[in-house]
Amino acid sequence: KRRIAVMTSGGDAPGMNGAVRAVVRMSIARGCESYAILEGYDGLVQGGDMIREMKWEDVRDWLSKGGTLIGTARCAEFRERPGRLKAAHNLILKGIDAIVICGGDGSLTGADTFRKEWPGLLDELVKTGVCKNEQVEPYRHLNIVGLVGSIDNDMSSTDATIGCYSSLTRICQAVDFIDATAFSHQRAFVIEVMGRHCGWLALMAGVSTGADFIYIPESPPGTDWQDQMCKVIGKHREMGKRKTIVIVAEGAHDTELNKISPSAVKDVLSIRLKLDTRVTTLGHVQRGGAACAYDRMLSTLQGVEAVDAVLTATPDTPSPIISIVENKISRKPLLEAVRLTQEVTDAIEAKDFDKAMGLRDNE
Ligand code: ATP
Repeated sequence: KRRIAVMTSGGDAPGMNGAVRAVVRMSIARGCESYAILEGYDGLVQGGDMIREMKWEDVRDWLSKGGTLIGTARCAEFRERPGRLKAAHNLILKGIDAIVICGGDGSLTGADTFRKEWPGLLDELVKTGVCKNEQVEPYRHLNIVGLVGSIDNDMSSTDATIGCYSSLTRICQAVDFIDATAFSHQRAFVIEVMGRHCGWLALMAGVSTGADFIYIPESPPGTDWQDQMCKVIGKHREMGKRKTIVIVAEGAHDTELNKISPSAVKDVLSIRLKLDTRVTTLGHVQRGGAACAYDRMLSTLQGVEAVDAVLTATPDTPSPIISIVENKISRKPLLEAVRLTQEVTDAIEAKDFDKAMGLRDNE
């Protein structure tokens, strides 16, 4: 029987459990054996009990659970070839030659490197006497399929990453709570949201809650950002608004790449507009909790597609990620998605914000 492993890696995201559940059950339904690799690449490098067979009932009730029940980690050892050699040996010992990985661009890049090195790693295991040739021969091709799990929605080639809509929902709930108190006291609130280099969470949270001003990395204001914001918010107040909400992405900066911090925004609102202003950093609340309906649906459909991608892959098929584009589940080349994602970050660092926005539009 073919053995298919599933793992979660990088930052946790709601919907990862739904993805694991779908991969486990679809693997079994297709007549394969299913394995979970615990604690991300740490588990792959450690092997043994960290790579465990999963039965149908092992993932019962996982669909709605937040975080990842098989654990995730950042693993420095897997970044180096000796760590990947250990990982290859552990997979051979378990008879596994297919892994579905749910994680961010870092995890997926690591997986593709592993796949490329795989034949060489097997040769090394044989040459150094760790494995016999007949032991490795049936597993000559490693199959990697990526599921993009990240709250940031920062990956190219897919409209939504698993977890981003749950996170957005949580942020909107939090802003609604803050709205009530802001209105009561006529206060201003500056709210920082996650997203690293990507402004999607901040932008969508701002649109969804009717925020007064939004700062995102891809479309930064000039160094006169204070004037721009005061003009808009001053006008809103003149029009009778009792509350002010400013959303700042954690990666926000001006066109000269000077960070725009929530405390700097607060100082401007307090001093120049004389608003009673508070800062709220939502922090890890944004990551947790139950997956929303969209993420349950997305993770399930993509998990099913991932198993299909494993079973239909040929040795020449480039590793795919499973994406959703215009509401259709599809497969895209993993490396191309990683490259396009990196291009956005590079464009921001080169202060080419038109390019960054254009790339995001095309994602
Ligand atoms: P998130 O978007 O949530 O940060 P991520 O998958 O991008 O998720 P990373 O910390 O970049 O998170 O990667 C997770 C793990 O993947 C790393 O700790 C490392 O073990 C492995 N990894 C990342 N990049 C590489 C690489 N280039 N080569 C080998 N392994 C890698």
